[in-house]
Amino acid sequence: MSTSIKKIGVLTSGGDAPGMNAALRAVVRTAAYHNVGCVGIYQGYQGLIDNKVKVMNARSVNNIINKGGTILKSARCLEFRTKEGRKIAFENLQKQGIEALVIIGGDGSFTGALIFQSEFNIPVIGIPGTIDNDIFGTSHTIGFDTALNTVIDAIDKIRDTAISHNRLFFVEVMGRDAGHIALNTGIGAGAEEVLIPEEDMGLDRLLESLKRSEKSGKSSSIVVVAEGDKTGKNVFEIAEYVEKNLPYYDVRVSVLGHMQRGGSPSCFDRVLASRMGVYAVEALLDGQSNMMVGMQGGEMILSPLEKAIKGKSEINKDLIRVSDILTI
Ligand code: ADP
Repeated sequence: MSTSIKKIGVLTSGGDAPGMNAALRAVVRTAAYHNVGCVGIYQGYQGLIDNKVKVMNARSVNNIINKGGTILKSARCLEFRTKEGRKIAFENLQKQGIEALVIIGGDGSFTGALIFQSEFNIPVIGIPGTIDNDIFGTSHTIGFDTALNTVIDAIDKIRDTAISHNRLFFVEVMGRDAGHIALNTGIGAGAEEVLIPEEDMGLDRLLESLKRSEKSGKSSSIVVVAEGDKTGKNVFEIAEYVEKNLPYYDVRVSVLGHMQRGGSPSCFDRVLASRMGVYAVEALLDGQSNMMVGMQGGEMILSPLEKAIKGKSEINKDLIRVSDILTI
């Protein structure tokens, strides 16, 4: 390893995601493996400002690989958005002897990290942790796969009751401005239609599609709606519109909400988080900074944090095609 870094800090910030603990475990143990000190910082950037930290060793992260959420806790920290706040954070880092940071979070957390680095010249590496999968520079973010499985499980259960009562269910899933969760779970759960922000299919097309499926003998259906859908209506308004125009459907709405963020991480997320944690610490020790760890084609890569923040994670067009074909 090419640097003289003796101690690193690690924090989880922004929206929590299953697998953050597995990433933390990997960061702490990789530091220990390379004989580098490691300090866990509580509640994201708030813990830096309040100096809420804990020295961690390989045994501090026993039995957390399977746990959802984040044992370091997360927070939205307004003070870190101010120069004064960041100065306090830097002074606390110096007091602790922390020479570099691993930030596990989303694009907001990465923005804060870049600003902090530019002001105080402290090396930072980001690990993408968010269920939304909306970060450029990685095919998968930590938590996405677990959230998909949680949603699939919920929709399967909704389908049971939809079939029993011949109902049409609109299921709203998370994703902020991205339709990755909606599109993948729409295909995986066999939804009739998927409404995503990246593709404005319009409500008329939705009505046509639902009319067609009723004529072809389907008596119950599931429509997955991404929370950031662009039809200009929320899921309740969409359901009302459909009910008004297609009165033969008995319509219900289910908003899955925060359950999508919880739960024990899937094996995929545990492995991804473990690889990313190892790679992030080794990148720091190799003298890298301002980079995010990502996965492309199954391999670990580094890309500039700036790109991760500004770039757009594109929706897979082939998934849209597959979804369209299979809802015949
Ligand atoms: P996420 O990382 O999931 O996108 P947020 O957007 O809430 O979540 O960002 C997490 C935290 O990162 C914020 O609470 C704040 O402390 C810090 N942060 C975000 N944007 C900035 C910014 N422009 N300047 C400084 N800190 C920021």
